[in-house]
Amino acid sequence: QPRQRVGSGSGSHAGATEEDLVHDRVVGVLGGGQLGRMLALEAARMGIQIRFLDPTENAPAAVAAEQLVGSFQDRDKILEFAQGCDVVTVEIEHVNTAALEEVQSELGVSVHPSPETLRIIQDKFAQKQHLMQHGIPVVQCMEINDLSDLHNACAKGYPVMLKARRLAYDGRGNYIIGGASQLDEAVGALGGFEAGLYAEQWVPFAKELAVMVARTRDGRVLPFPVVETIHRESICFVTEAPADVPREVADEARDVAERAVGCLDGAGVFGVELFWVASGGVIVNEIAPRPHNSGHYTMDGCRTSQFEQHLRAVLGWQLGDPGMGAGCAVMYNLLGEAEGEEGLARARRALATARGLPGAVAHWYGKEGITKRRKIGHINIVGESREAVREQLATLDQLAANALQ
Ligand code: ATP
Ligand code: MG
Ligand code: MG
Repeated sequence: QPRQRVGSGSGSHAGATEEDLVHDRVVGVLGGGQLGRMLALEAARMGIQIRFLDPTENAPAAVAAEQLVGSFQDRDKILEFAQGCDVVTVEIEHVNTAALEEVQSELGVSVHPSPETLRIIQDKFAQKQHLMQHGIPVVQCMEINDLSDLHNACAKGYPVMLKARRLAYDGRGNYIIGGASQLDEAVGALGGFEAGLYAEQWVPFAKELAVMVARTRDGRVLPFPVVETIHRESICFVTEAPADVPREVADEARDVAERAVGCLDGAGVFGVELFWVASGGVIVNEIAPRPHNSGHYTMDGCRTSQFEQHLRAVLGWQLGDPGMGAGCAVMYNLLGEAEGEEGLARARRALATARGLPGAVAHWYGKEGITKRRKIGHINIVGESREAVREQLATLDQLAANALQ
């Protein structure tokens, strides 16, 4: 598949499409969590109408968009929901893709990214196979259907990463097998063989990187800067942009990410999670077919946010300039430390302390139920130098940790 970079929106209007000139667009979004909320807030600013489908009443996105209460697995709800939308997109990939195919064929409403892309990505093992078939470097992995498969997967030694193929997020579908005595426990923890499992070789990465890549309806790609992601207990915790890696590593990361998104179909932004293996280059961990945590820094660090870019892409508008408006931007995730009211009070305190830091912008997700390790907001810090921003981040980490305790 030939890969073509897009020119971005800054400068002349030569790139404007016919779609650019149409107003009053209605975008339907499956899912109304924090990603849907940030999409809705950006859409409101841009003069785009959003409606979303989510099973939880008064979901975070309801702050700036109209909600239909219902499941994004429910075929009838999805078809009802899509009536009158100009385009349907997602903020979560675990949706009914057969229903989305009907939205296209029966209602004539376009869906971006394509239902087929969503189907491939939903199943993390199918996703890896798809990437491999297209020559994208990924870790060695194998399907696990019974104990003998698992023994084979562990034959070369430990640790081995056992993963659920479906419905995984924030590391909740992963189990690190440290030795032969943990096989049963690992399988049980992930819901048994019948849940659908696969195993990955352990990757001794030097750093985790990520690239948000926008893709137009006609398949051209435009990447945001390469960032480093730092995880705590498998949850993205901090990102730093641009990534502090040698130039050739950043170039390779961008190239791998562009090629990975190039072999998927449909428009939108995609979050490409990568491992930099110092001895063996850059490989893809997984892809999200939507705005992604590793792209939250763009809200304050780039000339166009990932949410605006996603809306532009799915609507067929020309893309915005993904370049950074400052020297360095870090994002710090606020995670719940306690349940219920107490958790909420602590999170609010953490957000309030962050506001006092120069260069810090606090983002609140408006979730009603706070639980431990749940994402409840994030703080972006933007500044001219990496050193200055890191210093602010260290202060923030201290303040937030105290507030959350
Ligand atoms: P997300 O919330 O990003 O969708 P997820 O639940 O799909 O997360 P993964 O991205 O598969 O989980 O893994 C979570 C984290 O676990 C990775 O970011 C990385 O830190 C670690 N990890 C995953 N796979 C491997 C591996 N094969 N070797 C080493 N570490 C790994
Ligand atoms: Mg994932
Ligand atoms: Mg991941």
